[in-house]
Amino acid sequence: MNSVIVNGSSVTPSKILCVGRNYTEHIFELGNEVPSEPVLFMKPNSALGTVLHSRAGGEALHYESELAFIVTSGQFTAVGLGLDLTRRQLQSQLKEKGLPWERAKAFDGAALFSEFVPVPKDISGLGLRLEIDGELRQEGGVRQMLNKPADILRAIAAFATLEDGDIVMTGTPSGVGEVIPGQTFHGSVLHEGRDLVAAHWQAA
Ligand code: MG
Repeated sequence: MNSVIVNGSSVTPSKILCVGRNYTEHIFELGNEVPSEPVLFMKPNSALGTVLHSRAGGEALHYESELAFIVTSGQFTAVGLGLDLTRRQLQSQLKEKGLPWERAKAFDGAALFSEFVPVPKDISGLGLRLEIDGELRQEGGVRQMLNKPADILRAIAAFATLEDGDIVMTGTPSGVGEVIPGQTFHGSVLHEGRDLVAAHWQAA
């Protein structure tokens, strides 16, 4: 099983729950409709990776940077920066046919994370930034989310048990795009504009 680092210790999530279409501008950049309830999908533990691959299954991967939370006793207790890596072309084909997204979203290496640190008291001040080769590509936060962390937790708890150490990814702001080999990714989680935790990846 794969692990992440939470407050300096190794934690093994059983699953990763992901929210889709949680920022209005991202919904429009992909030509989707604003959902009436959270769009949820899952990545298994086997999707957890450490290397930022630019390709999978013969196609270019797209990055989506997201605020990610660790669950303990049913609550969000730690926060980190996640990359939801996506085979966009395949996902579009699957969406068109109304088929499940696992082949486009749940493959090995489809989820990368920074270390996780304690969630600040005021969760609404959390935000993220993603720079690629020093250029700001994505920026967003809880205040721009359509479904806030508490809503997301409620929506998941209605149908699935979140085990201690499970991860919830809360959706991506606009600015998604292709991962190009050699690019340097610098993602950070901020609270009221101050850095909480960051991660670097070099695209392979
Ligand atoms: Mg996503």
